[in-house]
Amino acid sequence: MENNCPNCGRKLSIFYVKQECDKCGCNLLYYDMENRMEEDAKQAKQEYDRLYALINRILGPLIRHQQKQEAKKQAKNGGKQEKTTEETPSE
Ligand SMILES: [Zn+2]
Repeated sequence: MENNCPNCGRKLSIFYVKQECDKCGCNLLYYDMENRMEEDAKQAKQEYDRLYALINRILGPLIRHQQKQEAKKQAKNGGKQEKTTEETPSE
């Protein structure tokens, strides 16, 4: 396992416990933290989008199927409709 300074590339021992690099003095703990967080956020967004697309692909047809069944049921019931909130006005 190698541990290098992200700024100057100096090899650091894995037992190196200081926050700053010996050679260049850059902060190892917070080096590039903002960029990394931005990357993380980007990745999270991508993963979310992928997940959403997947859910859509699975649930989309299901919901459409259910809507079709619902429409069929309503058509079958014809005149004597059950009490629903969205009543279609009869002539
Ligand atoms: Zn360094």
